[in-house]
Amino acid sequence: MAYDQNNIFARILRGDLPCKKAFENEHVLAFHDIRPLAPVHVLVIPKGAYTSLDDFHEKASEAEQAALMKAIGQVARQAGVAAGGYRVIANTGGDGHQEVPHLHFHVLGGRPLGRMIGRPE
Ligand code: 5GP
Repeated sequence: MAYDQNNIFARILRGDLPCKKAFENEHVLAFHDIRPLAPVHVLVIPKGAYTSLDDFHEKASEAEQAALMKAIGQVARQAGVAAGGYRVIANTGGDGHQEVPHLHFHVLGGRPLGRMIGRPE
């Protein structure tokens, strides 16, 4: 999938749209989801133009890949969910029900989250 330079997260990264920032460094931005599904719902994204984790794996530098993984852990700690538990999700593509075509990890916590996914009907 070609990267859409005008997707919502690209616009947030360019500063065209606001976000409630949770964390930032050279390679990563984290911000609160606009429609939170849990008391803690933070989105962690690479600053580079990657659509998915497989795209990121193929094209991102080792430094970017390490920074993103470290940031997810740091965000969980900073958000205060490390002790109680949390979930990290990367919805990907059609079957994964990805809405925004810029790689992102949801960090969810602050309440019991139930089972991972529902069983098919
Ligand atoms: P996806 O379904 O692609 O994994 O998740 C996209 C997420 O982005 C959704 O949880 C949605 O609420 C969030 N989102 C969509 N637009 C915006 C926005 O403009 N700002 C923020 N902070 N989150 C957004």
